[in-house]
Amino acid sequence: MSDKLIVMEKRVYIKTFGCQMNEHDSERMLALLAGCGYQETKRWDEADLILVNTCTVREKPEQKAYSFVGRFQRLKENNPDVIVGVAGCVAQQGGERLLARIPGLDFVIGPGKIYRLPEILHDVEKGRKGACAVGFEDGSSVHLPISHSQQLRAYVTIMQGCDNFCSYCVVPSVRGRERSRPSSEVLAEIESLVQRGTKEVILLGQNVNSYAKNNPHELTFPQLLAKINEIPGLERIRFTTSHPKDLTEEVILTFGKLKHLCEHFHLPFQAGSNAVLERMNRGHTREEYLAKAKRLREATPQISITADVMVGFPGEREEDFSQTLELIQDVEFDGLFSFKYSPREGTQAAQWKDDITPEIKQRRLEVLQELQREITLKRNKKLEGAVREVLVEGRSRNSPHTMMGRIRCNRIVNFPGGPEVVGELVKVKINEGLQNSLRGELCR
Ligand code: SAH
Ligand code: SF4
Repeated sequence: MSDKLIVMEKRVYIKTFGCQMNEHDSERMLALLAGCGYQETKRWDEADLILVNTCTVREKPEQKAYSFVGRFQRLKENNPDVIVGVAGCVAQQGGERLLARIPGLDFVIGPGKIYRLPEILHDVEKGRKGACAVGFEDGSSVHLPISHSQQLRAYVTIMQGCDNFCSYCVVPSVRGRERSRPSSEVLAEIESLVQRGTKEVILLGQNVNSYAKNNPHELTFPQLLAKINEIPGLERIRFTTSHPKDLTEEVILTFGKLKHLCEHFHLPFQAGSNAVLERMNRGHTREEYLAKAKRLREATPQISITADVMVGFPGEREEDFSQTLELIQDVEFDGLFSFKYSPREGTQAAQWKDDITPEIKQRRLEVLQELQREITLKRNKKLEGAVREVLVEGRSRNSPHTMMGRIRCNRIVNFPGGPEVVGELVKVKINEGLQNSLRGELCR
């Protein structure tokens, strides 16, 4: 008989809903699970562990997450050994209640407790039913383990949580108070990523402009950008998200100064009417927003500006909605993420009547999206003839002989080429601006 040790490899299937923070949290969970002997599988029917990383910022992703978890309940009837866990913002909000509500659920883990995943899994594997870890640590700073991922483009958390309490938003209650990560940790993580091949970092936070706002001994956000810009081997820096009320002239001027900072700014405005903005508790007016967007374009003409906006907030009149359309026309956004308002439990706005009918919300959304489609196409066409630097990410989905990458202002470009340019910065001449991407050719 062989005395060779047989190590059983376990498999985890992870499904991620929601924003980049959740995508990044899923990456962190996968890294922790690798340390517990779990490899990722894309097939849920062969998994030993199924993890659903949920989002609750709007009604739709929350419903999707619940129906997804429901599917795995049935799977568990056939295979009782499979472990099922819920992570993310639904987990934070539901806590122990989820365990009672979803039969067969083994554990619940909130975004502030990800580091406890190995311990929780160990308990569940040992037969403990219904483990739950939610909540956040106290304090205004947060420590996270240094990521050792090997991605060309990597997310780097610089802060977590939010202190803004926009009246519609569940983020402050499911992600906790604003906590910044020490700059030394952020810089060490980026250095480590670059050594493993990362060329682009995307700094993450709900409100990056107020990085370390209460800590006079820490770098400010523009100072942090300047330090990151000096890291040898790093080619590109991006960040998201910014709040208009905290966007300073210093940050606006950073774009011309830092070689690696890409010319793209995501600056949500949510609504174009002051009456609605006030009820949303946004802390900025329409005029202030327009002035900041104008400054961004004056200071850096090639900058691309994108935003989030919603329709159907309680009490949104036709004239309020028209002001949203006017603002979109004035700014000429390069792209927009648009949503229908949905009330979220525990928020201030959830106490107000959700008085805009689903039909009106839908019509407003369609009108807004049609307007934005025209603007996006117009702005993409403006790039025709230009030569732009592209970081090549890989093959295009549509053809094996077409490569795909992004220009500095975050638009996707497809161009004929082979895999030898993957991971490289190349020059591409833009031949055609389409609705969702650009087409070009390599400049040799
Ligand atoms: N921190 C970011 C975004 C957080 S949530 C910011 O401040 O901009 C992402 C987007 O979801 C928001 O910008 C908003 O447009 C949308 N959103 C948030 N709560 C919502 C709700 N209750 N209904 C519909 N959309 C919502
Ligand atoms: Fe939510 Fe407003 Fe904070 Fe963004 S700034 S996360 S919308 S509360």
